[in-house]
Amino acid sequence: MSKTITHQIDAIALVKSPFKQKFAIPRQPCLAPAAIAIIELQPGYDHPDMVRDLEQFSHLWLIFQFHQNTAQGWTPLIRPPRLGGNKKTGVLATRSTFRPNSLGMSAVKLERVIINNNRASIEVSGIDLLDGTPIFDIKPYIPYSDVIDADGGFAQEPPAIQMQVIFSASANDFLQLHPTALQLKPLIEQMLQQDPRPAYKRNTTDHKEYAVQLADFDVHWTVTDNITLVTKISTLN
Ligand code: SAH
Repeated sequence: MSKTITHQIDAIALVKSPFKQKFAIPRQPCLAPAAIAIIELQPGYDHPDMVRDLEQFSHLWLIFQFHQNTAQGWTPLIRPPRLGGNKKTGVLATRSTFRPNSLGMSAVKLERVIINNNRASIEVSGIDLLDGTPIFDIKPYIPYSDVIDADGGFAQEPPAIQMQVIFSASANDFLQLHPTALQLKPLIEQMLQQDPRPAYKRNTTDHKEYAVQLADFDVHWTVTDNITLVTKISTLN
């Protein structure tokens, strides 16, 4: 089979996001409405003309690269977490991040366009993207064409929220003392409600302490039955 090699494409923007590690990022944008990010248009693509009239739209499509996965390659069959991690499905029948060309797409909410020193950037919310993700294209979300009453296959419904998230006294004390961390509390709840542990751990108690970096903080938690306890939040060393 011959392959067509197309011309090279350029990242027009980079994402500045609170998600510094892949672990615990919600699996789709709508699952984390509190996740706020800045899309920094890059030199050559950052003229304010590029975003004229964009604010008429409430939502945007982002076309990006799963840049942290490009080295690992891809396989035709993958195990989607939605199917418990034990059934194989064709890569093109999933939103797996390991795919040919490593391209992803997310519909996100447009919060505001920022013009600073004649350079444009865009604040969005509800993202599922790592800090530093390269964006290849941005398009307005157009409801008359993009909202379809469609069949969602094995992902018809959003994943059930299964975790109650509670904060320890020391985590709450830390939040009260650090206003920037307190702003992240809704996001911490949305992330952990999804139970980011591997699919086979659903509904199990594993006596392990998990941790992930979020913005400038480390968030630690444990899981007992269907309760997630945020044990500790700390400033990064
Ligand atoms: N909405 C997109 C992405 C879904 S997968 C789509 O359907 O194409 C979302 C997951 O991608 C996140 O949970 C995170 O683990 C992973 N991810 C986000 N940004 C990434 C990046 N730059 N490189 C590799 N993986 C990334």
